Amino acid sequence: MSQKKLISIICPVYNEEENISLFHAEVQRVISSLSEYDFEIIFVNDGSEDVSDREIKKLKDLYPNIGYIEFSRNFGKEMATTAGIHNCQGDACIMIDADLQHPVELIPEFIQKWEEGAEVVVGVRKINSGEGLIKKIGSIVFYKIINRIAEIKVLPNATDYRLLDRIVIDEFNRFTEANRMTRALIDWLGFRRAYVEFKANERIHGVASYNFWKLFRLAVNSFISLSLLPLKIAGYLGTLITLVSGSAGFYILLGKYFFRTPFASTFSDAENLAILLVFLVGIILMSVGLMALYIANIHGEVINRPIYVVRKNK
Ligand code: UDP
Ligand code: MG
Repeated sequence: MSQKKLISIICPVYNEEENISLFHAEVQRVISSLSEYDFEIIFVNDGSEDVSDREIKKLKDLYPNIGYIEFSRNFGKEMATTAGIHNCQGDACIMIDADLQHPVELIPEFIQKWEEGAEVVVGVRKINSGEGLIKKIGSIVFYKIINRIAEIKVLPNATDYRLLDRIVIDEFNRFTEANRMTRALIDWLGFRRAYVEFKANERIHGVASYNFWKLFRLAVNSFISLSLLPLKIAGYLGTLITLVSGSAGFYILLGKYFFRTPFASTFSDAENLAILLVFLVGIILMSVGLMALYIANIHGEVINRPIYVVRKNK
């Protein structure tokens, strides 16, 4: 048995028929210069509708270190990377897009940071050449909001191009929640981090399958799983409405029947009724907010996150 450390390279694949052999050639070139490590390359075919599977199998016949996981349908990149992490054997794994947008030649730098003691090495994107304006603005807004409301800090432009140490992989594998954003979960875990900056390449073949709506859904999912704010807003709103309409109603009631101030008597019965109704709506919203707290509590219990994460226990 070799004493070399094993590094697993995990590549989610969705309709990348033109990229796969190119991508593999690049990876192969880089890893053959790193002879002090063993590598396995795990392709996770996320229900591609093209011939990506044939391309991968062709390579698999030629190279013994290729692993292949094929999904029964498209489950999304988050699930694909998760499956790769679940099934990798390495002392560390590197997640990398198969569309050549993540520069393969930085793999040695990731490994070096890992050898220097980092347990998570995060690829940080500098500029994404050829990205649409909407996507750019969307991502700025997304990170602004999520850093306001989420309990953990999410670094803008931190990508899925990451290296994870074995202890992080093992901890990651304890997550059971279904609605997930891989990088947010990794951020949640903590551990010592290091960063590698890169400039994303343009896509040569195929199209980015993360369109606006898919990203929007992912963003909403991460808001929901990382924060209670959306649930609490109803409660805050209800409290505000109840307070304002309650004091207005109280003021009018006192003015009309006790102090008989002329101002209070200017309100017609219909107006008083309106204030009463608004007051009741406020109470309902407040109850919704209260219920949200209970739901949040249940949500916290059912996603069943580890309650703490240990680095060393000896
Ligand atoms: N991908 C996947 N499942 C999907 C969509 C994408 O596995 O449903 C893969 C895709 O093959 C690529 C990576 O995830 O390797 C990034 O996808 P894409 O280029 O569409 O996203 P972007 O570069 O815009 O973040
Ligand atoms: Mg891409």
